[in-house]
Amino acid sequence: MNSFSYVRAADVASALREGGAAGSRYLGAGTNLLDLMKGGVENAERLVDITRLPLAAIAELPDGGLRLGACASNSDAANHPLVRTRYPLLSQALLAGASPQLRNMATVGGNLLQRTRCGYFYDTAFSACNKRHPGSGCAALEGFNRMHAILGASDQCIAVHPSDMAVALAALEAVVRVRGAKGERAIALRDFHRLPGDTPQRDTNLVPGELITAVDLPAQRFAKSYYLKVRDRASYAFALVSVAAALQMDGNRIREARIALGGVAHKPWRATQAEALLAGSALDPASLRRAAAAAVEGAKPYRYNAFKVELAQRAIVRALETAGAVT
Ligand code: SF4
Repeated sequence: MNSFSYVRAADVASALREGGAAGSRYLGAGTNLLDLMKGGVENAERLVDITRLPLAAIAELPDGGLRLGACASNSDAANHPLVRTRYPLLSQALLAGASPQLRNMATVGGNLLQRTRCGYFYDTAFSACNKRHPGSGCAALEGFNRMHAILGASDQCIAVHPSDMAVALAALEAVVRVRGAKGERAIALRDFHRLPGDTPQRDTNLVPGELITAVDLPAQRFAKSYYLKVRDRASYAFALVSVAAALQMDGNRIREARIALGGVAHKPWRATQAEALLAGSALDPASLRRAAAAAVEGAKPYRYNAFKVELAQRAIVRALETAGAVT
């Protein structure tokens, strides 16, 4: 582990000053960053501790939405009465992630910034990883790529984003609020993370020094929702495929649907084609299967993960059926 300096920020302004310096990284719970530093994958020169900033509140917004402070723990967010009652999809996704101990530590902002769990990214014995060393290649392309992407990947990187929370936030059309040297801006969750393209080292559209301050949820319009996570064991495992499904019904017909997938792409993957097909259709098996097929159109599996194409479709159908049965 490289040596680094540490400073605790007293307020947001000083955090931005310290965090804007070259080689600085913000330190929240550190549940991912510190592991990466210990493994020599990340080499921050300076850690700016933001855990004492007043960014942990969860509060209603005047328009009926909800603001989650960036430093709110995943447990506090998952168990907050307003999250549980108005956004059960988000609560379910949060509780499907990690372990209780990690959820007690990990923060909303840190959850968005966690890095892929591609084994080749973490194992510095493998020299080929474009995300770790741009231009070095991708060991996963010809390696054991069972957990990897089937949608939106590039020949530079086929990693997937590991967050469950972000998948639910994508379906709920959340907005990430950030502050930086040029002031405050809001980024739609679906534009927050990036596809790998030819810059897989960049996971998000944050610019250096920007600090996540909150995540805003719009007023809830979807009375029926469900988060389905398919994984190798029942807890403390990343998704092979996950589905965040939300429905607004008009009698037996779907007025509007939102579907986001996890475990299939470098970012939470909104299935907009499937959503469009479902609008106005009946909640019946044929419509759901047609939408599920549209969601994986253009999928490109690799040697060990072809099963994800079928699994994703079945998971979408199951998640929508389960959401539809919510009373
Ligand atoms: Fe690295 Fe991405 Fe390839 Fe994994 S998939 S080895 S993270 S470049």
